[in-house]
Amino acid sequence: MLDKDTILTVSNEVEIVNYKDKSYVVCIDSSEEVKLNINSFSKDLLEAFNGNLTIEEVTYHINEKTDVSLKVDDVIELLNSKFLGYGIFTNDDTSKISEKAIFLKLRFTLLNKAIVRAISIPFTFLFGETIFLTTLILNIFVISYTIGSVVNFDLITDSINPKTVLYSSIIFFITILLHEIGHAAACIKHGAKNGSIGFGFYLFHPVFYADVSDAWRLKRKERLIVDSGGMFIQSLVANILCILFLYTKSHDYLIYTLTVLSGLIVNLNPFLRYDGYWILSDALNIANLRQKSKIALREFYRFVTKQAPSLSTNTTNIFLLTYGVLSICMIAIFLIYMLFNKENNVFLFPLNVFHFVKNIIINSSVVCFAYVKQSIFSFILPITFYVLLWKTLKNQFLKWRN
Ligand SMILES: [Zn+2]
Repeated sequence: MLDKDTILTVSNEVEIVNYKDKSYVVCIDSSEEVKLNINSFSKDLLEAFNGNLTIEEVTYHINEKTDVSLKVDDVIELLNSKFLGYGIFTNDDTSKISEKAIFLKLRFTLLNKAIVRAISIPFTFLFGETIFLTTLILNIFVISYTIGSVVNFDLITDSINPKTVLYSSIIFFITILLHEIGHAAACIKHGAKNGSIGFGFYLFHPVFYADVSDAWRLKRKERLIVDSGGMFIQSLVANILCILFLYTKSHDYLIYTLTVLSGLIVNLNPFLRYDGYWILSDALNIANLRQKSKIALREFYRFVTKQAPSLSTNTTNIFLLTYGVLSICMIAIFLIYMLFNKENNVFLFPLNVFHFVKNIIINSSVVCFAYVKQSIFSFILPITFYVLLWKTLKNQFLKWRN
């Protein structure tokens, strides 16, 4: 418990970095992914806890320095609500960190910082601004040219066989690991520390992640390279596969290319916390984009229902509103499309899965590769449907309960 005589010391693993204008980021090196956005007042406050002053003395100091008139209790309240539980102070616990990283569940580290650094260093040369941009444009050109030259995609799906599935899976797995290495290498190239690479679950599906929290101390352009470093590597792998296809004319390489590209395209989605989201957020210099767009929507709702007298019409707010509306629309359009066009897929999904499993276990004689391939393809959309529906309903329920 804090009282007026408590003396706090900011841990020496804490670094407060200027982010833009008068906003700062508290980076805590000891743990992964801890970064708190603070304003210059909070920065002054934190810096006053140097291990010599009691909370009461800090209150005097900060009142004098910043022209506010806080009471000791206000400062204690502020510390409890905003700054304790992150390991900012020596001897503090880190109970709030898990809350912060809540969108990634069941995380565990696969490769520690030192190993990631060793693997990433040979790739760092790719992330200088000029090489990065030139290669990216070249990748986009080669991939578009190759995919554009494909006349009949059915021929390609027909040539999927157990061998290409096995090789596709291996290539996919290696590419997503390289994707994470890409983020880390970009970090190192621009002078930020790389973190570990790990594994977790996001929206019920497994994901790898690279901890690039240290990239907050980089300039915006450099952060954008770090954000897109993963997809950049994926596009490079796809580029090489395209060249192999153009050279050999073997459809197998096209299947591998499409596998790698599918991972890349998912990552471009700016409405969920994939790389596209972080790129958009950094490009516009808006941290916590999703949360802010929700607040903008709520304000808009209050304005429309006349609970609030006015509405901010600056560019950022208009963007946040549009982003919020679009992210709701995307989900709504998908759910409605599935309900009205793929209703058999949706309603018979449990039965279909049951038959699929039953056939594999009991009637293994009728099970062939084409059947497994077709069944798994047909499960992708309904699974997405139920996951989105569940998430939407859960959010609504939580909102209603609060
Ligand atoms: Zn990524």
